[in-house]
Formats: sequence, C-alpha cells, structure tokens
Amino acid sequence: MKYLLVLAVVFVALWLWRKGRRDDMRERAAAARTQAPPKVTAPSEMARCVHCGLHLPLADAITDRSGVYCSAAHRQAAAR
Ligand SMILES: [Zn+2]
Repeated sequence: MKYLLVLAVVFVALWLWRKGRRDDMRERAAAARTQAPPKVTAPSEMARCVHCGLHLPLADAITDRSGVYCSAAHRQAAAR
C-alpha cells in the first residue's frame, strides 16, 4: 500500500512536469507566431576603392573628387 502511494505521487509529479513543459512550449510557439517577420531593407549601393579595389557600402566609403576610397590611408596613398 505504501509503494502504491509513492507511485501515485511520482505519477502526479511527472504529469505536472510534462504539463508545465507542454504549456511552456505552447507559449513559446505563440510568441514566435506573433513576432514580426524580420525587416528587409533595400540593398545598399556599393562602391569600389580606387586604390585597392575593395568593394564596400557607399555609406562607409570616403568620397573624394578623385574617386571613392575605403579608408583615409588609401585616399592619402592615392594622392601621393
Ligand atoms: Zn582601399
């Protein structure tokens, strides 16, 4: 009789644990569904460094009258 009670307690504990996991997984799935899809931005315009030929986003490039450079060092090197 004692073992039956222990077994019943173990089953109830297992049931509660599995129920908790199931609820947790359900909440995660619902949260993933409600999240907005990742924003797709327009592609950025690329430029080529006149000195070394590296392609980089135009926003990160250093633009000069003589051309587009990847860094200030390359702009100076091209000026020499
Ligand atoms: Zn460069």
